[in-house]
Amino acid sequence: MSITNRLTKLRETMEPSGVDAVWVSQPENRRYMSGFTGSAGSLFITAESAMLATDSRYTEQAGDQSPEYQIVHMAGPGSDWFKEMLASMGNAKRVGFEETYVTVATHRRLVELCGEAGKELVPMSDTIEMIRSVKDEAEREALITAIRITDEAFVEVRDGLEPGVSEKDVAWRIEKAMRERGAEALAFESIVASGPHGARAHHRPSDEPIAVGAPIVMDIGARFDGYHADMTRTICIGDYDDQFRRIYDIVLTAQETAIATIEEGMTGDQADALARDIIEKAGHGPEFGHSLGHGVGLAIHEYPRVAKRAPDVLTKGMIFTVEPGIYITGWGGVRIEDIVEFRDGRCQSLSKAPKINVKNGS
Ligand code: ZN
Ligand code: ZN
Repeated sequence: MSITNRLTKLRETMEPSGVDAVWVSQPENRRYMSGFTGSAGSLFITAESAMLATDSRYTEQAGDQSPEYQIVHMAGPGSDWFKEMLASMGNAKRVGFEETYVTVATHRRLVELCGEAGKELVPMSDTIEMIRSVKDEAEREALITAIRITDEAFVEVRDGLEPGVSEKDVAWRIEKAMRERGAEALAFESIVASGPHGARAHHRPSDEPIAVGAPIVMDIGARFDGYHADMTRTICIGDYDDQFRRIYDIVLTAQETAIATIEEGMTGDQADALARDIIEKAGHGPEFGHSLGHGVGLAIHEYPRVAKRAPDVLTKGMIFTVEPGIYITGWGGVRIEDIVEFRDGRCQSLSKAPKINVKNGS
């Protein structure tokens, strides 16, 4: 049912974007629009028709997964079947394509083929990505499962941490715990960054034992049914010091304030400012170098952008992260990240993993 709705939504954009047909080849967009999970294929969608062209490895699977589509077997050179697809579009003259994903070489060839067929290629930027930013119920369910698996894996691993464990050990335990709970894969390579490593955004887990009392940034996520969870907790093995208590308190206040005050209808920029102002006032503005959040779904980073200067309007049905952080070179970092959605116009956290409470020392 949802594929039919998605086709309707895409078709509604065609007239305003000046296209009569849309060619979709970007993997997440293809999956979103058709339900087809294979690694190769193209969709050709007009006001009346929907065709899915794929090769012999996938034609049967495509038939099962995408009953809304007519399945076309791509055989022979790419230009041959592309010509056939163009011919089968009938009167549709202007063919929209995903300009962000097409190489210059492919584009050159397609312009020729379209010219021969009396069609015109029209660049489309992010049309399907924008539709994807508002989740339907099936997507929300998949995300909630991915988030639950992530939360449970975090608690299990956190509770079993002992002095002497390495970042790599922790990353492996997280992966194992997520897989055992039904994750199909990691949503992304886990970040387990202790002490000074925590100040580097893309640290890879090391073999050294984690120092007792050092902050450990754990940014982890399970993938379930194609959907990506994303959650960060900062913890310590053993007691933390006053520096940790101070920095953690600022980040947690920024995060809780943002979640409590982001409202439907705000822009990404306005939402970002709610957390950023608190961190700036505490004197750590330059040490919060990334954006407050991002949408999650079939991709780990998608619309809406919740960032400085982002004009994206946050609306009902969007599911996105809220993840302020402070990173101090030579000391480490604190980041706290939850996934949120709107309920009655206000943000509600879908992530349930416990956070340290520095006020009561737990
Ligand atoms: Zn993350
Ligand atoms: Zn994130």
